[in-house]
Amino acid sequence: MRNDNTENICKDIQALIPGYLSGRLSLKEARVFTAHLKRCRDCREEIEISYLVDEGIARLESGETIDLHADLEDMLADTEEAIQRLTQFGTAVNLIEMTAVFVLIACVLIMWIF
Ligand SMILES: [Zn+2]
Repeated sequence: MRNDNTENICKDIQALIPGYLSGRLSLKEARVFTAHLKRCRDCREEIEISYLVDEGIARLESGETIDLHADLEDMLADTEEAIQRLTQFGTAVNLIEMTAVFVLIACVLIMWIF
């Protein structure tokens, strides 16, 4: 089921993809973003493509072959968890905290790879 309204939402969501992948979304943006991705196949495909392009090239250069699709799933699941945690702690959450969460995710990924 598609109409102009959902198309517009998708445009907004897809505009957030670069920010998400580089960990620059606010809590509010990240919440809207992950909630939308859960039910929108089009936007999921968009982020998968962006993620594969960004990460795939970086990892090809370093000679790594790992499951990028699974990584993206993990990243999205971690984000949701982080959002739930941060939401429980109240609304006084800022960009620095979100960035810290993404740095943590990156560290875990790096540790897992090596
Ligand atoms: Zn969408």
